[in-house]
Amino acid sequence: MKVLLVEDEPKLAQSLEKSLKAEGFAVDRAEDGLRGLELALGCRHDVVVLDVMLPFMDGFEVLARIRRERCKVPIILLTARGGLDDRIKGLDLGADDYLPKPFEFRELLARLRAILRRPPSELQLALRVADLELDVGRRELRRAGEIIPLRTKEFALMELFMRRKGLVLSRSMILDQVWPSDSDYGDASNLVDVYVAQLRKKIDAGREPKLLQTLRGTGYVLRDPS
Ligand code: CA
Repeated sequence: MKVLLVEDEPKLAQSLEKSLKAEGFAVDRAEDGLRGLELALGCRHDVVVLDVMLPFMDGFEVLARIRRERCKVPIILLTARGGLDDRIKGLDLGADDYLPKPFEFRELLARLRAILRRPPSELQLALRVADLELDVGRRELRRAGEIIPLRTKEFALMELFMRRKGLVLSRSMILDQVWPSDSDYGDASNLVDVYVAQLRKKIDAGREPKLLQTLRGTGYVLRDPS
């Protein structure tokens, strides 16, 4: 089970990470709202633990944007403000649970377990953009019904583009999502370019319309022309 922990208070974040790991969770950490949003939208986590008071973008805004992108990852909000208004606001925006600070770790653990016991939710397993279809469960990509064989990293890249269709992805974001644990690449952006070029060849060469587009100096985007 992989937890995304978005918390700007270093001591608390470190201690939560340590305790979660001791309970067998894998943990990714973000220290501000923007970074938290970026990681959450990669849809690689089973649950997000999200502080409300955060630099750059507060937890409510992060939550609202995650839901606006139709990402259904379960979210537990943490806040120092225990007021009813905040609680209602959080739940209205699509939080799954709410934990006022200060709390004991075992309270958080109980809530995480309750959320993770729910039936495997609506993480979408069949993705579609124009005539591209990605079956995440069977790890199969088709365009216009024809199977396109993909290698592991190409598949991860394709899934990322399809989950974020219409949104521009920077090289660094792609690198983070597709090569998260490999930090030491000599020329990282070149690695992304090479893989995107391979993927484009597989999905777009000899076919119309072209779906995977380059925005010079910015990144890449998978567009649904309809
Ligand atoms: Ca905070």
